[in-house]
Amino acid sequence: MSLPRAYRAHAIVLRGRNLGEADRALSLLTLERGKLDAVAKGVRRGDSRLSGRLELLSEVDASFHRGRSLDVITGADPVTSYWQRLVTPEAFAVASVVAELVDAFCEPELPVPAVYRLLRGATAAIAGRGEARRVLARFELRLLDELGLGIPLDACMHCQRALAEQAVVDLSVGGLACPSCLRPEGNTVLDAGELVALQHLGAPKGQGASLRAGAKVARAVETLIVHHLGKTARSLAALDALAPE
Ligand SMILES: [Zn+2]
Repeated sequence: MSLPRAYRAHAIVLRGRNLGEADRALSLLTLERGKLDAVAKGVRRGDSRLSGRLELLSEVDASFHRGRSLDVITGADPVTSYWQRLVTPEAFAVASVVAELVDAFCEPELPVPAVYRLLRGATAAIAGRGEARRVLARFELRLLDELGLGIPLDACMHCQRALAEQAVVDLSVGGLACPSCLRPEGNTVLDAGELVALQHLGAPKGQGASLRAGAKVARAVETLIVHHLGKTARSLAALDALAPE
């Protein structure tokens, strides 16, 4: 089947790097086609029609032309841009982690509309609230869930018994363990209240979801995501360099 030379897609900007004198190569998450790379020609010239529309996490309704190596963005109508509100150090750092995680976890040209909607919602939340880090922890748990990699938050990863009083963060399996399966000493331990907060943090929208989790819970999620990613997100280091919560 031959693909059309021109196509449209809703796209959110994940990453960009300068190319030549005025171009930018962008990594985009599109609603219709999943993740793809495309070049925005002349975007760094002030008079470009694309100028200012393709910033980090901006959403556009874009038209593309299929190129020999990279597709070319021929037009971009703004859908939402929170760019002005993402420039504070914390919001920008969290936005960078969110974009990097989507880029790392999503396969090229594999549509994941649930992740697209999750990313759109997370961007609005990061721009709108003064608790960007908790938005990040929730985003991380939901992202893994939507990709079929969800961490069970109510049972021990080893013996499957329900967790109630205590949960030990098990970095070797990227999940939670009961104190019989993993000794609490030397590991992060969540008490009953923190465990409930974690479960609400990871709950699907409309099923008791809440951001009311403390910094310790958010930090535990961050360490778990590192396990699933297989490496530390580069932008997490920038976030950690900011003053702690
Ligand atoms: Zn157990």
